[in-house]
Amino acid sequence: MRLSFLEEKITGLKEAGVYRKLPVLEGPNEAEIILNGQRVINLSSNNYLGFANHPKLKQAAIEAVEKYGVGAGAVRTIVGNMDLHEELEKLLAEFKREEAVMVFQSGFNCNTGTIQAIVEKGDLIVSDELNHASIIDGCRLSRADKTIYKHCDMEDLERVLKENRDKYRNVLIITDGVFSMDGDIAPLPEIVKLAEKYNALTYVDDAHGSGVLGESGRGTVDHFHLHGKVDFTIGTLSKAIGVIGGYVAGSEVMKDWLLHRGRPLLFSTSLPPAAVAPIIVAIKELMRTTEYTERLWDNARYFKARLGELGFDLGKSQTPITPVIIGNEAKTMEFSRKLLEKGVFVSGIVFPTVPKGTGRVRCMVTAGHTKEQLDKAIAVFKEVGHQMGII
Ligand SMILES: *Cc1c(COP(=O)(O)O)cnc(C)c1O
Repeated sequence: MRLSFLEEKITGLKEAGVYRKLPVLEGPNEAEIILNGQRVINLSSNNYLGFANHPKLKQAAIEAVEKYGVGAGAVRTIVGNMDLHEELEKLLAEFKREEAVMVFQSGFNCNTGTIQAIVEKGDLIVSDELNHASIIDGCRLSRADKTIYKHCDMEDLERVLKENRDKYRNVLIITDGVFSMDGDIAPLPEIVKLAEKYNALTYVDDAHGSGVLGESGRGTVDHFHLHGKVDFTIGTLSKAIGVIGGYVAGSEVMKDWLLHRGRPLLFSTSLPPAAVAPIIVAIKELMRTTEYTERLWDNARYFKARLGELGFDLGKSQTPITPVIIGNEAKTMEFSRKLLEKGVFVSGIVFPTVPKGTGRVRCMVTAGHTKEQLDKAIAVFKEVGHQMGII
């Protein structure tokens, strides 16, 4: 058997209790869903604001299909750049309070395309140890040297900068804005200060800050009022914005350069019109009202307070991302399975997504949850938590 080496690895996953099958969702991604035929409360989506099945966004998608068809037909640099893409970038730049925005097909693509376009041999990347997988891949694709600093540890970041600054032409500090597995926020004001002191560039992947932090979801940079001080801000359109896509916000010169050297932009077809049109509507909704983000934060505070009172370990989250830390990998997966049996879907997250021994179920509270749904989920957490001796 030519692929028996893979079968052996899969057996290893099964023995470690971390083997899994893909859950199947029937119908839209909402607060309550039909998963594998069972109606459950959904605490696992990144659909923070309930935009994934929003009537206004759906209508915009339908109209875009009627007017533009289903596909963009080419990469943007050839003939796949529609007026819709241009409109979205102008709107996003205004929303983000930055000079310019370049849109990509996903947040993942932004990282793999942008990092390699801006640093090269002779440069140094300085990266937080808990940065997202797509940042790690983006760094691997670049020819720059790379070094890691301890998670959100500003003394360690300064040590790295001090030791290395003179050896390189450009130094690029990269951090998540909000860390997706723990829900903590990067200390951006300190990072920007150190970047200024050591003449380094700054790059913030704000996938989980987009639509969540700042005024009406303008992101982590807005949360700290650092407009114009972060050279590259990555946002996703696939999470809170509810559709698909990613973007880089920053300066005109950044945009100009990515247009010539951003490989996913040059070699992969642009976002379809039915994605772009609803994203435009979503951003306009956020510019019109803060009601979506207010509901999100209200639900998040409520849910976290109740789980905390029950005695669960919620780590150091500062955002609606609510990790419930279990530790052992197999026990984490068992906890997740038992919650699901009782009608609450929270996916277990274990090594290699998070460090060994820090397995957790990660609850994603959204604006779309009702208090009744949250109460029901909390009661199930209490019951299963007692049963398994977690609380
Ligand atoms: C989800 C995520 C991405 C990828 O975004 P997509 O638009 O889903 O490709 C990138 N970076 C971080 C930090 C993320 O959490």
